[in-house]
Amino acid sequence: MVSLAKGAVFLRITFDEIPDSGLRVNITDQSWFPDREINHSGPVTASLFLERIGIRRVLATGRIETQIFFNCDRCLEETIQPFGFDFQTDLEANEKGGAPVIEKDHSCKENEMDVIYIDEPAVEVFDMLEQQVILAMPRKRLCSEGCKGLCGTCGKNRNVEECRCTGENKYSPFSALEKLKQ
Ligand SMILES: [Zn+2]
Ligand SMILES: [Zn+2]
Repeated sequence: MVSLAKGAVFLRITFDEIPDSGLRVNITDQSWFPDREINHSGPVTASLFLERIGIRRVLATGRIETQIFFNCDRCLEETIQPFGFDFQTDLEANEKGGAPVIEKDHSCKENEMDVIYIDEPAVEVFDMLEQQVILAMPRKRLCSEGCKGLCGTCGKNRNVEECRCTGENKYSPFSALEKLKQ
């Protein structure tokens, strides 16, 4: 087992370093987290299990857990939510200079799995984790599924207070922006 504490700058594991029984890696460093895409709050933990499948192929199974911090897309309130997910990635190293090796016996038909082709037989762990977070990020960021958003007329947060506006009472992102400018 490899444990990496805060402060590590990168983590690269070559396929040769992975024993036949697999390699478990626990990462508490969080420098890799793509905060420019979405901010995290509190600690980030990532656990990873690397397994060799043949000479040029490694299966990475893992879990990432943290909290994300964002403004709700509908009501604009600041929100912190737990963010955790499992992932599975198939890493395949190309032969030097060769075309991508596509094997026909992929056993990933029933569960979706990314296949990543890499130039060298090494796992760039931080790059992989970052990529997984970007893939798993929610497209729509809501404080709750049933968020009622802002009133399109008066701009009130309708989760907090039901206003009396009639007619066009639907949330409009433009009126929310107008409200912010004032
Ligand atoms: Zn909301
Ligand atoms: Zn209103």
